Amino acid sequence: MSCLVNPQAMRETDLILGPTRTAEKIAVVGAGPAGLAFAEAAAERGHRVTLFEEQPELGGQFQLARRIPGKEDYAHTIRYFTTRLKDLGVTVRTGHRATAQDLAFADRVVIATGVHPRQPGIPGDTGPTVLGYKEVLEGAPVGQRVAVIGAGGIGYDVAHFLTHNPSADFYAEWGIDRSLEARGGLLAPAPEPPLRQVTVLQRSTTKPGSRLGPTTGWIHRLELRMANVEFITGVEYQEITDRGIRVSVPAPEPAGGHTQEGGGVALESPRTETLVEVDTVVLCAGQESRNELALELAGDSRPVHVIGGADVAAELDAKRAIKQAVELAAALP
Ligand SMILES: Cc1cc2nc3c(=O)[nH]c(=O)nc-3n(C[C@H](O)[C@H](O)[C@H](O)COP(=O)(O)OP(=O)(O)OC[C@H]3O[C@@H](n4cnc5c(N)ncnc54)[C@H](O)[C@@H]3O)c2cc1C
Repeated sequence: MSCLVNPQAMRETDLILGPTRTAEKIAVVGAGPAGLAFAEAAAERGHRVTLFEEQPELGGQFQLARRIPGKEDYAHTIRYFTTRLKDLGVTVRTGHRATAQDLAFADRVVIATGVHPRQPGIPGDTGPTVLGYKEVLEGAPVGQRVAVIGAGGIGYDVAHFLTHNPSADFYAEWGIDRSLEARGGLLAPAPEPPLRQVTVLQRSTTKPGSRLGPTTGWIHRLELRMANVEFITGVEYQEITDRGIRVSVPAPEPAGGHTQEGGGVALESPRTETLVEVDTVVLCAGQESRNELALELAGDSRPVHVIGGADVAAELDAKRAIKQAVELAAALP
């Protein structure tokens, strides 16, 4: 058993935040889950922590995650950290993009600057019908027919966000009889019609959603199936235009399968071109570590640590980010 936001759960006897012997001035850059968790744990140990966040609010990508239907609880995680940092006397500077000069006062620096969304480099991917997942989750207008590029965890979340009707009745949708009169308390599920027609595209030919988390992946796959989301795999992207996205996909196998000539030499599989006609294309094509400040401080004589997404960009990985943060705070003198 483990906990996303509390890495000490089940490790109470070996991950210990005891009082420090030498209180340091520590600058933390970035108030996503990694920076928040580090600031809390280090302050709890008695260090003097200053936390910088360029956005007006704390939370980092949890500010986006909390907008996904079913992930509203992440707002409570942000609320928890906000209260804890206040109680522990952490100096919080929001709305300020920290530079190397801002950090000169500190004995130690922790870089928790997170990630950038990756631009996939498809011709037309900066066009007027193209949006990033951040803009979509922050409320940018989205058309009725949508293509989502990327079937990772964020692609799944965005497809759910775009199709889910917020006024849907959870119990009716999932076929739960609250009166418990139906056999096993189960009725036929009655999902609301999806708000939009969404197609999710991925480069790989693996089964979509196969890399989602083992405990909740089945729910996310089922949500998109109930919303009639279509998946296209093995896609090669050609171009995004204002009519949609032109792709090539593996051609359907002819009846009876392929006959391979040439004494077993592998032939290039045939492909076919198609235009996926949509009003909006949403990019969920992965992330890259945001580490400009870390590179700038690379030759620093003080200890500089890089944690969370700034260290490893791995999509849905708040658990690793928070664990790394608390373990670092526990290991300080
Ligand atoms: C829609 C969505 C759903 C998700 N769902 C899940 C999930 O279910 N489970 C899961 O484990 N993960 C999930 N994630 C991923 C999770 O949010 C990230 O793994 C996590 O936020 C990474 O934390 P971080 O602190 O490293 O970086 P971030 O959250 O990216 O925070 C970095 C912060 O640093 C700030 N910053 C950067 N540079 C500076 C600077 N120079 N000065 C000041 N501030 C700066 C940024 O403004 C940002 O607030 C989801 C992400 C999204 C977008």
